[in-house]
Amino acid sequence: MNKVTKNGVTYMTFSLFETAGIKHGFSTRLGGVSTGVYESLNLGFNRGDSDENVRENFKRIATALDMNYNRMCFSKQTHTTNVIVIDEGKAGNGIIRPNEFNDIDGLVTNVKDLPLVTSFADCVPLFFYDPEKCVVALSHSGWRGTCGKIGKVTIEKMKEVFGTKPEDVLCGIAPSICKDCYEVSDDVAEAFRESFGEADSSKILRPSTMHPEDKNKYMLNLWEACKIALLEAGVKEENIEITDYCTRCNPTLFYSHRIMGAKRGSLAAFISL
Ligand SMILES: [Zn+2]
Repeated sequence: MNKVTKNGVTYMTFSLFETAGIKHGFSTRLGGVSTGVYESLNLGFNRGDSDENVRENFKRIATALDMNYNRMCFSKQTHTTNVIVIDEGKAGNGIIRPNEFNDIDGLVTNVKDLPLVTSFADCVPLFFYDPEKCVVALSHSGWRGTCGKIGKVTIEKMKEVFGTKPEDVLCGIAPSICKDCYEVSDDVAEAFRESFGEADSSKILRPSTMHPEDKNKYMLNLWEACKIALLEAGVKEENIEITDYCTRCNPTLFYSHRIMGAKRGSLAAFISL
């Protein structure tokens, strides 16, 4: 991934998506107006920061990304695998007007100049672009979403509604918690074994390095799990770009739920045709 600073706002981009000429970005903490635990580019409403600050931060990153602030459409994430298609009528949802969504973890659109937005702090942001059918999507892949293969669900939605061929799709796995930072308990490991099968599970789960004495703890590799789900959906390996930035390893650049708990700002993913 590339780290870009424009108009004082720092964000991350994928080389694959830059080459394809699609507007997109993943925010960092840098370049906003929020203070204290929210310092400074907090893009999460209802976290204790003022709505005024959050809106100003959205305006700043919209300008840096050359996207239309007034038409940004925000998801309402609750760790589901629900993916919906966004039409013209949803422009502005959750940012300039109240969020009318419930339980939505993936957004897909073919409408131009309608930026999609999803929010994060350790969970995996997934980016999608189909240059043939001109469709973009974002999804939020925490452990539950990853276990439910929301990346694959998103591709299937693009296929069903817009006739997308998975082999045409470019995918990006953005900054989130890395395999050396994400420890889970046995119930989570078991859910992955059930969903991914033994062979793939052995690629994404290993004994805990944080608590090696505890046999009920595992390290989970969410990036690899997301990649496996995308490959299963028919995406080509060379069309998947995986970040090299972990949110927990880089707390001065990103907000991390595992480090900061609930007292923190939120990061956001953006994509627009
Ligand atoms: Zn890490």
